[in-house]
Formats: sequence, C-alpha cells, structure tokens
Amino acid sequence: VERNGKHLLELINDILDISRIEAGREDVEITEFDVCRVVKELATMLEPLAVQKGIRLIMQPCAESIRIACDESKCRHILQNIIGNAIKFTEEGGVTLAVQQDGRDVEIMVEDTGIGIAEEHVEHVFERFYRVSKARSRDDGGTGLGLAIVKHLVQLFHGTIELESHLGRGTLFRLRFPLHSEESPT
Ligand code: ATP
Ligand code: MG
Repeated sequence: VERNGKHLLELINDILDISRIEAGREDVEITEFDVCRVVKELATMLEPLAVQKGIRLIMQPCAESIRIACDESKCRHILQNIIGNAIKFTEEGGVTLAVQQDGRDVEIMVEDTGIGIAEEHVEHVFERFYRVSKARSRDDGGTGLGLAIVKHLVQLFHGTIELESHLGRGTLFRLRFPLHSEESPT
C-alpha cells in the first residue's frame, strides 16, 4: 500500500510538472550552488536502491567545487530522474557519475552497464509516455514521463542532453549546462 501510494504521488507530481511546463508556468528560482555537492547528495540518497539490486553506484571524485547559477531543485529533479533510470535499467555492474567543468559549461555524465536502448528507440525516449517496452523494463510502474520532463527542464536552462547507448551493454547520458543560466527562460 505504501509503495503504491508513493507511486501514485510521483505520477501525479510528474503530470503536474509536465502540465506546468507546457503552460509555460514554471517558477524558476536561480541561486548559486555547488553542483558537485548536489550530485554527491543524490548519490547518497539513491545508494540504497543500488545496494538493493546488488549493483554499484560510484561517483568519480570532483576536483573541486563547481559553482553554477541555476534552479537547484529543478537541477536535482533532472539528475534524480536520470540516475534513477540508470539504476532501474541496470541489473549487473553499476552506475558511474562524473561531474566536470568544461570552459563555461558544466558537464555531468551518468553511465550505466544496463540493458541499453536499441538504436530505433533512442530518438524517442524523450517523448511523453514513451517506454521501450513494458516487458524489458519489467513492471517498474514507470510512466514514461521522466525523460520528457528532464528534456524540458534542460532546455529551460539552455542546456543540452545527449545519450549514447549499446543494446545489452549500457547507456551514457551526457548533460551540459552553462555555469550561469540567469537569463530569463522562455
Ligand atoms: P517514469 O520516469 O515516468 O517513471 P520511465 O522511467 O519508464 O517512467 P522515462 O524516464 O521517460 O520513463 O524513460 C523512457 C524510457 O527510456 C524508459 O521506459 C526506458 O525504456 C528507456 N530508458 C531510459 N533510461 C534508460 C537507461 N538508463 N537504460 C535503458 N533504458 C532507459
Ligand atoms: Mg524514468
């Protein structure tokens, strides 16, 4: 009951998120924060999920703090979705997180050794309600909204998201944000 309740709440929140985004009614609150800290906190928070599945969740050490001006809670939301997916779709091996500064951008990589995504599906995974297959992702209760929300939020911050995947071997998501995304979005 508790698990179903949590799922339902997540689903409602996702639907509200996507509706707000599509209505252009996103509240954006820009502050300056250390993105390495945020990724570390998420790694700590999601570690039990990985442990439960018997896979590793490793964060490559950040050289130093990387301060960005962005909406921290939305940034967290983006990363939580991607790292959550990586854990969900990996049964062996693990997930590696890396954060690095590259000029005026920050680059965040989430790499897994999971089921991978076949080439014909790669271009669709950011679409609303798109899931590669119910059977392959087992019955995880996913809705297929996670990456659609991620894509919208990334664009809101003038960032980019790319993925490389090999079926049966794993997937790499590469996110890029400008260090300062102050300019008002629309
Ligand atoms: P939700 O996020 O709404 O709970 P979901 O995780 O199924 O559901 P998305 O996060 O939007 O949906 O991802 C869409 C689909 O892309 C997934 O159903 C899965 O098929 C595929 N996918 C996403 N991330 C990965 C990954 N790391 N490895 C393999 N497949 C993935
Ligand atoms: Mg998801």
